[in-house]
Amino acid sequence: MLIIMKKEATEEELQALISKIHQTGAAEGFVSRGQFHTVIGVVGDPEKVAELPLLAMPGVERVQRVSRPFKMVSAEGHERASTVPVDGVSLGPDSFTIIAGPCAVENEEQTLESARAAKKAGAHMLRGGAYKPRTSPYSFQGLAEEGLRILATARQETGLPIVTEVLDSRDVEKVAEVADMLQIGTRNMQNFSLLKEVGLTGKPIMLKRGMNSTIEEWLMAAEHIARHGNLRIVLCERGIRTFETATRNTLDISAIPVVREESHLPVIVDPSHAAGRKSLIVPLARAAVAVGADGVMVDVHPTPETALTDGPQALVPEELYALTREIKELAVRMGRTV
Ligand code: PEP
Ligand code: MN
Repeated sequence: MLIIMKKEATEEELQALISKIHQTGAAEGFVSRGQFHTVIGVVGDPEKVAELPLLAMPGVERVQRVSRPFKMVSAEGHERASTVPVDGVSLGPDSFTIIAGPCAVENEEQTLESARAAKKAGAHMLRGGAYKPRTSPYSFQGLAEEGLRILATARQETGLPIVTEVLDSRDVEKVAEVADMLQIGTRNMQNFSLLKEVGLTGKPIMLKRGMNSTIEEWLMAAEHIARHGNLRIVLCERGIRTFETATRNTLDISAIPVVREESHLPVIVDPSHAAGRKSLIVPLARAAVAVGADGVMVDVHPTPETALTDGPQALVPEELYALTREIKELAVRMGRTV
């Protein structure tokens, strides 16, 4: 069950409800804050909770029964998809957000050049990893704190909000100081202690789909973040593992409309990590717009041939300009503001 609070509901009204729910001895309430509404997810004995005069309690707007196992991220009870604001940029059903940047922060020059390209292309946000999850422990692991410093410089110069990955619970505070949005990568989608930590920050989170995860598992991972107080979550489809070897991953394009039916959270597509090579990025980005995604995230690098990570899937600046021109036009035709 979900209790949707009025916009003007006070903290006291919220706490009064939580204690009422706990007093039943049969249920618990978890508060989660979105852009407009605070909601209380209630889990436990529905009969006992139904006995409470919830609608009569001050601050309550609506009570919604949720049949899905994911409660706070479920589409049930939300007539409209929600919007997640990230420092002046909106991710949601009205806009189309383009995020661009290098796979990894390699040095200041490479990052600043990528950031300038993203800015010039009209991208809305900058991506780039300071902490890189690598299959081999001998591969470049990212510049860590130095990478965060470089990202802060890029943000200062371009004004673009930053999304960057956090790999480890112990780094959440440090990364959150610089990042405008925290990225949870595919390999960490079910790292529940990390999901808890990023939930507690209250910062916007980009939750990538686990490469071996079902859509339900993905939404349950989002629920872990929401259950710790944070509903500012954007989902990112980045391809899943299948028997197909022609592409790095298989972009599950139907995941977008399925998520749309199941959840109120915004969902974007990362065609770069899905495809693994750049010839497919434009067609897959077109598909993302057409299928109703709320944005795309693409890799760009000034010199992909020297990239320390994911060079084959990086666009050069000129290719990024062409992509954003085309994608923005398409998004406008789909009724979105860019
Ligand atoms: C990335 O975005 O750089 C990345 C590592 O992505 P994923 O977690 O989807 O592999
Ligand atoms: Mn990458």
